[in-house]
Amino acid sequence: MKKNDLISLEITDLTAEGSGVGHAADGLTVFVPRTAVGDRITAKIVKVKKKYAFAIVASVDQPSPHRVAVDCPQFRSCGGCLYRHIDYGEECRLKELQVANSMKRIGGIDLAPNPIVPAVETERYRNKAQFPIASGGKSGFFAGHSHRIIPCEDCLLQPSEFSVAAAVIEQWMVENGISAYEESTGEGLVRHLYLRNAETTGELMVVLVVNGQKIPAQEQLISLLKEKLGESLQSVQQNINTENTNVVLGKETGVLYGKPFITDVLCGVKLHISPLSFYQVNRTMAEKLYQKAAEYACPQGKDILDLYCGIGSIGLSMAREAKSVTGVEIVEAAVRDAEQNAVENGFRNTRFLCATAEQAARNLAAEGIRPQVVLVDPPRKGCDESVLQTIANDFQPERVVYVSCDPATLARDVKALTVLGYSLKEYTPFDLFARTGHVETVACLIREKEWDKG
Ligand code: SAH
Repeated sequence: MKKNDLISLEITDLTAEGSGVGHAADGLTVFVPRTAVGDRITAKIVKVKKKYAFAIVASVDQPSPHRVAVDCPQFRSCGGCLYRHIDYGEECRLKELQVANSMKRIGGIDLAPNPIVPAVETERYRNKAQFPIASGGKSGFFAGHSHRIIPCEDCLLQPSEFSVAAAVIEQWMVENGISAYEESTGEGLVRHLYLRNAETTGELMVVLVVNGQKIPAQEQLISLLKEKLGESLQSVQQNINTENTNVVLGKETGVLYGKPFITDVLCGVKLHISPLSFYQVNRTMAEKLYQKAAEYACPQGKDILDLYCGIGSIGLSMAREAKSVTGVEIVEAAVRDAEQNAVENGFRNTRFLCATAEQAARNLAAEGIRPQVVLVDPPRKGCDESVLQTIANDFQPERVVYVSCDPATLARDVKALTVLGYSLKEYTPFDLFARTGHVETVACLIREKEWDKG
């Protein structure tokens, strides 16, 4: 087999990255993006390695029953969605299988997951967007594996008002001759448009990420935004990023109009969300996920340690029943939000620490703190091994509830906890990111000595 060969292929499987998998007549495994299990295709080979090859679709000769018409013109170039060409039921099956396979192959655990909890909305569910700005004020997304900006007027995963805000920025930049940042030269002002909305209150935050201290024609910017977005506009902010980096946000943020945060309600708790703090992009599904986390945690009367707590969302959702909640988070702005959130909701049994989970766990253990429940919700790379060791060897909680956005690192960490004396009782995948390749999971681990009670 060589480059540019055309071969007939049946797609029998999909990788976690969403590439179709088929086997050529000579036994070579061939990966083909944007295909569906059950497709019979003619594939054009683009790269051949020893044991596998990469191909693209030359023609779909017999479509899989799971194929659906693609409803987004940007699907091929964007890379945000993985599954727009596949029906939603099949997407859920694939995600559940991905979680199950990781647990089996990486975690060495035989227990099957609970059925995946499907998304309530598969469109316009995101509450956050970061658009790179091109010259002329056009916003869009970076083409896959590059820094070329492809203009995009509307994204089906985002609320329509985000497109309205993007159009305002474009108009304002054109009318005032305001430049866009150029990565190659480090010159130009506007880098990104960062938007957030709060689903339950409708509040909208507009953050302009700029390469400089001052924004010209600010009054016109604010009045245009107010005119087009109305009452929902609650916060306009400037974030300063003068570094030559592909990190979107700089460290400094200042208010141009309104409040420094927006407010959402999650699991009955009012939450302040400021620009630099993490907040789940799908509120409705996050609420379901955290309800399951509470069911796994059994927080009634317990001391809870919430590691990687962000603005406190998970711990605060259990603070009414719990004896105490201690949250640990590395981002200072998020810790301030968490403290404010505890006050706003009238909790007196909570405290939040700004530190790494690694360091805070060690310190708390040394102080003799012994929470009965530990919640962890780390970023994609999972927990540092030392965190798992401190949990299992020092805290020795009855329960560990693990919220994860990466099935592979979840499986790795569950395996480590199993070696350290915990058993996986049950785990449930949730579709917080419909149409994309991401899947969230919550797992319940119980200390083996408690197992009979649990
Ligand atoms: N539990 C929160 C946030 C989860 S996202 C929620 O449900 O909204 C993961 C969080 O971990 C982020 O807020 C991130 O800033 C924080 N984080 C990343 N690395 C960390 C570390 N080493 N120690 C503590 N927090 C960390």
